[in-house]
Amino acid sequence: MISKTIIAVLAVSASSALADGSAIITPVVITGGSPTAPVCVVPKIISPGSGCCSYSIANNVTKKFETYNQPGHVFGNEDDARAYAGTVHAKMPFFEPIGSGERLVGGWFYDNGGFHAAADYMKNDLSTSTDPSFLVHAVANGKVLSVYWDDWLGNTVVVEHTAGDGSKYRSVYNHVRNGFTNDLAHARAIDLSKYGNPPDTSNWSKYKKYAMNPNPDPRFWGGDDQVVLVKVGDQVSSGQVIAHSGDTGAGGAGNGLDVNGNPTDSRTANVHLHLFVAVPHPTIVGRWMFIDPYGVYQQVNTGCYALLKDTWYQRLYAAYYPSFHNISAMLLDKYQDYYRGMGMGMRTLGPFRRDLEKDKRRSLFCLSQAGRR
Ligand SMILES: [Zn+2]
Repeated sequence: MISKTIIAVLAVSASSALADGSAIITPVVITGGSPTAPVCVVPKIISPGSGCCSYSIANNVTKKFETYNQPGHVFGNEDDARAYAGTVHAKMPFFEPIGSGERLVGGWFYDNGGFHAAADYMKNDLSTSTDPSFLVHAVANGKVLSVYWDDWLGNTVVVEHTAGDGSKYRSVYNHVRNGFTNDLAHARAIDLSKYGNPPDTSNWSKYKKYAMNPNPDPRFWGGDDQVVLVKVGDQVSSGQVIAHSGDTGAGGAGNGLDVNGNPTDSRTANVHLHLFVAVPHPTIVGRWMFIDPYGVYQQVNTGCYALLKDTWYQRLYAAYYPSFHNISAMLLDKYQDYYRGMGMGMRTLGPFRRDLEKDKRRSLFCLSQAGRR
């Protein structure tokens, strides 16, 4: 009885805030904002045969590289990967790394079905005369583990997030800018022989040509003032601006270049933010596994990444409602077990939307029946 009341109250609050309450109050089978909206299907999590998406990523605190795997490299089969993904929950508020002028353009799989294991973001309004870069925000409170250059990932920032119960998450921001002079020098210094002298059509070769252009376009390379704004050891708060998006690294601009190293889209040159989110490997200490923070594990064009559309797995991007039934979000978080005792669990339903008036992050916790797995 109590739980039903809570749902109803929240639904009213949420629906007034977001003009769409129908997805929130449907506890088990959730079809999104309208009866005709497609139900998100059980996602594919592993992609057998795909070699993509195991990376060595630096930890500048321990001065070691750590391995981050896609689920297909952690689990040999879909069932185990799904079972594990079902255990990943947001134990602290998470937000999208963007502002109101940007959007998600790429999801867990590429449109061709290839593994991506990350989320891509781009600016909404692009033209051939403006800088496609945008500000990158920390997705949650955390500590900066690394800021470094990688020939493929470009300038990379790693932040570790520790929830109140000790649960760890990592967010890895790739292809960001770290000053025109610095980025150009790194890009021009790429030694293709280290990568097996790849063919002209490879991202490596295209990126090298792009970098060797005697007149690098400042719209795509940025200025010397566009640097990473945090350093190793910094504590960052959720939403803090930490970097400027860019296309650094062969995996950044590379996909958006022709064989001569010229941008195929003269508005973007593939300037975007590629965000990995990872949780500890289920069995190997010091290893990390990529997860989909939206809980979708599909291509972006399924519609299932839409705000308030429920997914098979919980979203880490908790919309976070500051005053739920006069209970603060922190108390809700602290006493999750109390709500579980009533058959309720914390669900995270949607990415944050920026409060246009105060540029303040608005969000929303929702209680409904515990996760469906
Ligand atoms: Zn990407």
